[in-house]
Amino acid sequence: MKIIKTANKITSKLLNKKKIGFIPTMGCLHDGHVSLIRKSKKKKLLTVVSIFVNPFQFNNKKDFNKYPKTISADLKICKKNKVDYVYLPSKKDIYPEKKIIIKNKIHFFKKYMEGKFRPGHFEGVIEVIKRLLSRIETNYLFLGKKDYQQLIIIKKYIESINSKVKVVPCDTIRATNGIALSSRNKLLDQKSLNIAGNIINFLKKNKKQIIKSNNKLFFLKKMKEFGANKIDYLSAFNIKKLKKTNKPSVNARVFLAYYLDGVRLIDNF
Ligand code: AMP
Repeated sequence: MKIIKTANKITSKLLNKKKIGFIPTMGCLHDGHVSLIRKSKKKKLLTVVSIFVNPFQFNNKKDFNKYPKTISADLKICKKNKVDYVYLPSKKDIYPEKKIIIKNKIHFFKKYMEGKFRPGHFEGVIEVIKRLLSRIETNYLFLGKKDYQQLIIIKKYIESINSKVKVVPCDTIRATNGIALSSRNKLLDQKSLNIAGNIINFLKKNKKQIIKSNNKLFFLKKMKEFGANKIDYLSAFNIKKLKKTNKPSVNARVFLAYYLDGVRLIDNF
């Protein structure tokens, strides 16, 4: 496994090799990330993992500052899973210019869910993906359904620039109590992890009813009773039509974001 810190090296070294599978991450790796790595290795791709906490996708500075960092454990996980290259850029590597202006057009979800509650978030996500893809000659880009809205937005961005990069959506990996694995779970104590488990299991059991209900008040109340501190949204979307829905179907997904102990959790199913 090679660790690379500057963009120049990564492009020249990786050129003319076999096809590249790229897994962008913000580190604090867990089995969710590992499932993406395994998928790339299974396809026999030269597998590149980047670890970079992108400041421009955080609309809240506190959230950025407390984002968990576990770099030596991350490197061990990458090594164990036979990652070929770990790209560990500095902020200067990714954003070398003095004044950074981010202007990306977000076609979907701008007014909804993450787009509504985290202004500037997806613009920052597109910016970092744009810059990472310009440094790593990616053939396959592995993205988790855990961040389904991000997955759709990146896919649309890649289509919009006629890029040949193929997006590979990967299923959400969950803990035994049902919650989606997430780096932010590290910030929760056992009590909060249990509450998160109760919330997601209750919501998953009632998926159809949530989709059909117009105001979702009953379910929001239940989430609060379980212990959710603040709920940003509980919404149903048709992911093919990219529209809100109240009709259960294979393309209807429930999306949620809420706070526990000051930690913001998102999920979808
Ligand atoms: P992050 O480090 O949170 O930016 O995530 C990096 C990639 O891993 C993204 O494509 C995520 O959607 C994906 N990912 C994060 N958590 C999970 C999970 N529990 N299951 C599957 N993929 C995940």
